[in-house]
Amino acid sequence: GDAPWRSRLAGLRSAPPFAVWRLWLDRRPTLDPPPFLGTTGYGPLDNVSFIDRMEPHAWSWAAGTGGCVVELHAYALPEGVDEARLRHELRAQLARIHPELADARVVHDEWLLRHDCPLAGTDSWGDRPGVVTPDPRVVLAGDGVRCEHPVALMERAATTGWLAANVLLQRRGLPGHDVWTVPVQGRGRRLAHAARGRLTHAARRRLGPGA
Ligand SMILES: Cc1cc2nc3c(=O)[nH]c(=O)nc-3n(C[C@H](O)[C@H](O)[C@H](O)COP(=O)(O)OP(=O)(O)OC[C@H]3O[C@@H](n4cnc5c(N)ncnc54)[C@H](O)[C@@H]3O)c2cc1C
Repeated sequence: GDAPWRSRLAGLRSAPPFAVWRLWLDRRPTLDPPPFLGTTGYGPLDNVSFIDRMEPHAWSWAAGTGGCVVELHAYALPEGVDEARLRHELRAQLARIHPELADARVVHDEWLLRHDCPLAGTDSWGDRPGVVTPDPRVVLAGDGVRCEHPVALMERAATTGWLAANVLLQRRGLPGHDVWTVPVQGRGRRLAHAARGRLTHAARRRLGPGA
């Protein structure tokens, strides 16, 4: 790519570190927990997922042992966070939500502390590199790549993947794939006015109640 494109690429930043801790515990919660619970006010704990309620392999392990497979996420951690302390804190917060798991034995666990998620920050979205690059052989896809559709995270990674494949196919004279999205503007000017509260009284009467 050319120098301006390279400098836009170099300007991309990673989101702060995050931790993912998957625990295989020797017991399960007393009441059926939701498969996913977003939390606030629980220290660094941002969400709790019971993987055995989502994934067949974890489900059969839990069914066979009477245990559970739970995953704890913590986002936006400080650089150089004390991992042992963080794990202790996450366990303590899980016990606040599920006291019956406080003394559960950890049969197995997997711990990840990473710093490799693209940051969609307050920088100018327009400066972010898009799918097409100055080099016709190279296209970009991923969550960090600009996309004009209203998508984010996995959906943006997948959508830019389709768009990138379409660019390459079209350059070889091959049809691409349709990419569908939700409408990004109102369907009718009249209704758009009504939504903004600018519709005249007479027009409101014509449109009927609820307009
Ligand atoms: C803890 C957590 C929870 C999340 N939860 C959700 C959610 O609930 N819903 C949602 O939509 N999104 C969620 N996301 C975001 C989602 O995971 C990302 O948006 C998505 O994975 C981005 O896909 P990607 O292809 O851009 O990048 P990635 O999935 O990160 O894939 C990039 C790949 O490139 C590989 N790689 C990196 N460098 C090199 C190299 N030099 N050579 C070869 N390979 C390399 C990496 O190993 C990786 O496999 C979550 C992310 C995290 C971290």
